[in-house]
Amino acid sequence: MIINASNDEPKKIGIMGGTFNPVHHGHLVTAQEALDQFGLDEVIFIPTGDPPHKIEDLLAHAEDRYLMTVIATSSNSSFFVYRVEIDRKGKSYTIDTVKELRKLFGSGSELYFITGADAILEILTWKNTREIVTLAKFIAATRPGYDLSKIKELKTTLFDSEDEADRRIFIMEIPALAISSTDIRQRIKIGRPVNYLVPEGVNNYILKHGLYK
Ligand code: NAP
Repeated sequence: MIINASNDEPKKIGIMGGTFNPVHHGHLVTAQEALDQFGLDEVIFIPTGDPPHKIEDLLAHAEDRYLMTVIATSSNSSFFVYRVEIDRKGKSYTIDTVKELRKLFGSGSELYFITGADAILEILTWKNTREIVTLAKFIAATRPGYDLSKIKELKTTLFDSEDEADRRIFIMEIPALAISSTDIRQRIKIGRPVNYLVPEGVNNYILKHGLYK
């Protein structure tokens, strides 16, 4: 799917980064909330290709994760899917993705990288952390009851002042993130249903291709 990229005028772009193994309603609610709370023009889902930190038994093929993400987002005119990390050779690093989007949308645009709080807590181990946080703001999506103290610690480590940290890393609590991809995969493995946890088209895709068995 082609993203709606133009650098004619500055935009506020959400970059929804994740493995999406599989994409579920928690992810969709997160993207919609970010769109609304941060006044974004669009949210671009970017499924990871070859995740640098991930060795997982039940990791569906990148092409399947990409197609399920396209199916899940197809009815929302503000959601797009970009396959840059799937098509990139070698390991997928967020710094490369953010730089690519900066080029596409122009330097006047604001980028908001949206992902799970647990993933953001690992950001110090990512490639070029300091540069990423200057190129994009971060929205850490959390499940209810999440311990926020570690995110606060991270903000102190990354930024000189609390003020700057609060302008660059945001926390968004999403009750629908009680749904998790891990739980969905486990349910499928033992033959339990996942309808209503994932969009109907995604459920059909999983069944048709026998994923996560
Ligand atoms: P993960 O460890 O699989 O996920 C951590 C937690 O965050 C899980 O609970 C996950 O729930 C949740 N989550 C993941 N993406 C989310 C999203 N977009 N919205 C809401 N919750 C989300 O993390 P990951 O998927 O591998 O990586 C997340 C992002 O960080 C990706 O874009 C990845 O490329 C980036 N990353 C970059 C580097 C690097 O540049 N070196 C290293 C690691 C990760 P579910 O399992 O239910 O999704």
